[in-house]
Amino acid sequence: MTKLKQYKMFIDGEWVKSESKKTFETLNPENNKPWAVVPEASASDVDRAVKAAQKAFEGEWPKLLPRERGKYLRAIGNKLRENAKLLGEIETIDTGKLFRETNKQANYIAEYYDYYAGLADKVEGTVLPIDKPNIQAMTTRIPIGVIAAIVPWNSQMFLTATKLAPALAMGNTVVIKCSELAPAVMFEFAKLIEETGIPKGVVNVITGFGDPCGKALTSHNLVEKIAFTGGPETARHIIKNSSENLSEVSLELGGKSPVAVFDDANQESAINGITAGIFGATGQSCIAGSRLYIQQGIYNEFLDKLVKRAEKIKIGAPMDPETEMGPLSNFKQLEIIEKNIKLTVEQGGKIKFGGKRHPFSNEGYYFPPTIIECDNHNLPVAENELFGPVLSVMKFESEEEVIKKMNDNQYGLSSGVFSSDFSRALRVSNAIRAGITFVNTYRLISPSAPFGGIKDSGYGKEAGIDSIKDYTRVKTTWLNTSDEPMKDPFTIG
Ligand code: NAD
Repeated sequence: MTKLKQYKMFIDGEWVKSESKKTFETLNPENNKPWAVVPEASASDVDRAVKAAQKAFEGEWPKLLPRERGKYLRAIGNKLRENAKLLGEIETIDTGKLFRETNKQANYIAEYYDYYAGLADKVEGTVLPIDKPNIQAMTTRIPIGVIAAIVPWNSQMFLTATKLAPALAMGNTVVIKCSELAPAVMFEFAKLIEETGIPKGVVNVITGFGDPCGKALTSHNLVEKIAFTGGPETARHIIKNSSENLSEVSLELGGKSPVAVFDDANQESAINGITAGIFGATGQSCIAGSRLYIQQGIYNEFLDKLVKRAEKIKIGAPMDPETEMGPLSNFKQLEIIEKNIKLTVEQGGKIKFGGKRHPFSNEGYYFPPTIIECDNHNLPVAENELFGPVLSVMKFESEEEVIKKMNDNQYGLSSGVFSSDFSRALRVSNAIRAGITFVNTYRLISPSAPFGGIKDSGYGKEAGIDSIKDYTRVKTTWLNTSDEPMKDPFTIG
């Protein structure tokens, strides 16, 4: 039997087991076999991590010159680049995501640290045109304190970067709770953080289950802000937990993102965009374009082309550079997808391609690209976030109709429009209630582009220039500029 890799948590600059010594195994989605053992954090481990972060916040870190903190961020970025291969391999083993994607992402995520390193010394205050004589009042932006960063398994390195980089740039300290489903890459990342020589306790990395670990973290009295990415049900728990510590909360939640293809669209571009949006990362992306609306003039022709494209997708081992779609990350997801497809077919949905477990599933959690025609978008596969490679397809006639349909869902994270009429594309984009719209493209991210949703997809934007301010609070300072002593407060006039 091969020996399982052993991980420890990173708290206060030390590598530690959980106090209870409890551990759990993490599985390789390619073959459903355990490959690593990680500590399971309990409430007492959370307490240790939060107190370490608080101690670091009371230490030198927030007092460093912003540019000095920026140097640590650049060092993190450089470490990511130097170790992108290792990080990619570990993330691929743990999540089943393609190595060519995880490797590339580890490199690209370095850019987020560079971006916020550059912003560290560019957050300015104001001098207020105050209505009092001999007073100068000003605002400055101060760090918040201990930040709890909670991430899901699917893109932990990216979703950590959008929280950790602005938080550190502004002088906060952080406890990262990584997903219990695939935590290994985050411990590898913690080793790189340690190598930068960042002061102890500034970054702590723990893992454990939602309850008790996540619950203890989000209700801890020393936590001042919770930056959460995950599902809406978990978000509801977190909001309740935050009533204990009255911390600020930002939420990046799920999506059921609609994409409209008009008769005049460049079809090659639309096929590629839709394929990237729903079959890239095996559909396990919060911005997956999982609801497709095709205009009636090209409906049959376009759907046939899409099916032909899906047929060509190469399913295989995630480390193989030829593979285009790997396994799902966990068995539960496979079951959710199957259940939704079954219900949809019972209600009249027609499977055009895929729809059944891939033969590789005897070992891992493989599910093929799946395309299902739906008469209406209230069928389960067209309405629920499945977090898998399942595309629901509907027909539309007019611009007005498709806008209405695109907006008729609880989520509002991403969306897409394919049309060669740019005025129309812009009209549709403006009318869609979503945090992101891609026009004639899909599935792009950038450090300078705000990322996040509206409606049940959450609130608070990550990435972009403004999100750095979300890791500060405004402080007002009043200064008496007069040489005269302050007046007796009980004199009149
Ligand atoms: P999840 O909500 O089950 O878990 C996310 C994290 O929350 C995990 O670390 C988990 O342990 C933790 N958690 C669970 N219960 C908790 C509790 N009571 N208190 C505190 N923390 C708790 O999500 P998942 O299944 O791992 O990930 C998939 C979801 O994440 C999907 O809905 C997907 O759309 C969403 N997602 C959103 C974005 C985005 O940026 N908008 C990005 C990626 C994923």
